Amino acid sequence: MAKNGKRILIALGGNAIKQANEKGTAEEQFKNVSITAEHIVRLITKMGKEDRLIITHGNGPQSGNLALQQDLAKDQIPPQPLDVVGAMTQGQIGYMFQNTLENMLEAIGHKVPVISVVNQVLVDKNDPEFIGENASKPVGNFLSEEEAMKMKAEKGWIVKKVKPNAPKPWRRVVPSPDPIANVEADAIKILVNAGAVVIASGGGGIPVYKENGKLIGVEAVIDKDLAGERLAEVVEADVFLILTDVEKAKLNYGKPNETPIDRMTVAEAKKYLNEGHFLAGSMGPKVKACIRFIEWGGKEAVITSLDKAVEALEGKTGTHIVSA
Ligand code: ADP
Ligand code: MG
Repeated sequence: MAKNGKRILIALGGNAIKQANEKGTAEEQFKNVSITAEHIVRLITKMGKEDRLIITHGNGPQSGNLALQQDLAKDQIPPQPLDVVGAMTQGQIGYMFQNTLENMLEAIGHKVPVISVVNQVLVDKNDPEFIGENASKPVGNFLSEEEAMKMKAEKGWIVKKVKPNAPKPWRRVVPSPDPIANVEADAIKILVNAGAVVIASGGGGIPVYKENGKLIGVEAVIDKDLAGERLAEVVEADVFLILTDVEKAKLNYGKPNETPIDRMTVAEAKKYLNEGHFLAGSMGPKVKACIRFIEWGGKEAVITSLDKAVEALEGKTGTHIVSA
């Protein structure tokens, strides 16, 4: 692959599109996206001609809302399965970023093509997450015991009690299989090499498995940071930048002796991960993704908050994961 400049892959967290306290109106989401896009444009304008930016993002709140909306209208319009919901939200969020980034780049006269890709990610049908009731990713709204049992009986959902003392303690859980490969890798490489800012693997990608040579969509949710790391491999990223809502990952998170981490080697990151410093489902997969990226051959992985993106790339803040 013809690669001259530096390649940065950024993985945007949920707060980049919807704040926890918001309902998720289009106006609210466009407002958040434009705050995010300002940081991205700041980054783009600092990049050289041969440098490339690749973006991935989560879709948790959007797919949750869409699933709920479908459920409320299910007597009139059939709800779509999770893989299709994934594709729908990739389109929705991709549009919001394309529109906003294009407008901002146009306003400053900076010509860069921006494109989002509907993107499948290959998983293994024998991943432990697909076995029995192993599934670990809660999706959709909270359910009463009665509602949960009804969905289990009618649709074969796996339901788990995720908030024991709440009035509605149950939720549907779906498998969160490990991403193996990005299906549209070749197309994405072509776009990146040609100079486009590519938005891909949104929401962790649409999970598909291969059977008799065919790709088949599956009801599952891939972690966006782990899928983002696979995308970083595809585009041969130099830097994998995870932008979330905390400036640094911490040791002893939430305890009186909590300590922010400036820099950790892969060996240290593995040790801390095993000691339980990074919670499963939030910081855990981020650190795991960073470890994978460096072990694959990436130069540097950084975890920081959205507003610190540029400073973190300059080495002034964030948690940096390096080989040694
Ligand atoms: P995103 O939408 O960006 O993926 P997450 O909520 O999944 O965001 O992950 C970020 C969150 O991880 C933080 O807000 C924090 O609550 C949580 N977290 C868990 N462990 C740690 C840790 N060791 N250090 C910092 N934050 C942590
Ligand atoms: Mg997350």
